[in-house]
Amino acid sequence: MNQKTLKECYSFEGTGLHSGKFAHMRVCPAPANTGVRFLRTDIGDDAFIDAIAANVSLTSRSTTISNGKIAVGTIEHLLSALTGLGIDNVLVEIDAEEVPILDGSAGPYVDAFLKDGLVEQDAERHYIEIGQEFLYKDEKTGSYIKLVPAEEPSYEVTIDFNSKVLGVQTVKWDPSIDYASQVAHCRTFCFLHEIQILASLGLIKGGSLDNAIVIVEKKAPELVMNRLRKTFNMPDLKVEEGYLSHIALHFPDECGRHKLLDIMGDLRLCGGFLKAKVIAYKPGHGINTKVAKLI
Ligand SMILES: [Zn+2]
Repeated sequence: MNQKTLKECYSFEGTGLHSGKFAHMRVCPAPANTGVRFLRTDIGDDAFIDAIAANVSLTSRSTTISNGKIAVGTIEHLLSALTGLGIDNVLVEIDAEEVPILDGSAGPYVDAFLKDGLVEQDAERHYIEIGQEFLYKDEKTGSYIKLVPAEEPSYEVTIDFNSKVLGVQTVKWDPSIDYASQVAHCRTFCFLHEIQILASLGLIKGGSLDNAIVIVEKKAPELVMNRLRKTFNMPDLKVEEGYLSHIALHFPDECGRHKLLDIMGDLRLCGGFLKAKVIAYKPGHGINTKVAKLI
């Protein structure tokens, strides 16, 4: 198969989930063999960062890559869209430290990139083949990722947060499944009880009820409920066990599908398209990017 790029540049703008900083971003066509390259336009015309595992610098709740002091964060949803749609080469111009969270999914990218179709380039795609099966396990969390050599990429992801609401979800993607309609629009999520902890760590400054599914494991005390209604200016918000009432799920297992979206983005940091079957149990940005480095 030949390499592909975009037909033209597509613009996105919005707030970064963790930094709360507003960013303008353009995702543009790039020559064959470029891969995925970021340019921090606010720093200079040579402030490039390649989206490769060796550049991963931070993995708390999202994936950040750096080149010296130049960094760009929360790159995984964009990388996932590029992987799911089979796009090899792009230049991403951005004027802040974090990719906008948009609606918390990769949907806005897919909708834009597919509008005009993709451009096939005059160079063969380099696939990344693994010589033999391998398993990486995080003994502390019990998470693991197993890779098995295969002719085409496929992913099987199981999530288990020990949550009554989520249960155990197993989701799959292979090239016979339409990434755009089945995976791309699945949004990020968090637990209500985490929101205060994340906020105190200085994360999720750009979080809002528009870009995340919120899981309510235990009915919150009236004080917390009132604070939430006030913060988000939603007097009718119900904070019962289950999913917070502000949005309807696209799929009953949307959270599992989002974790699939994430790992497809993170493993792209191995530098290209994998010829492997990926089986992931309780994946997260830490273990995902660790495996991308090992690949
Ligand atoms: Zn995500």
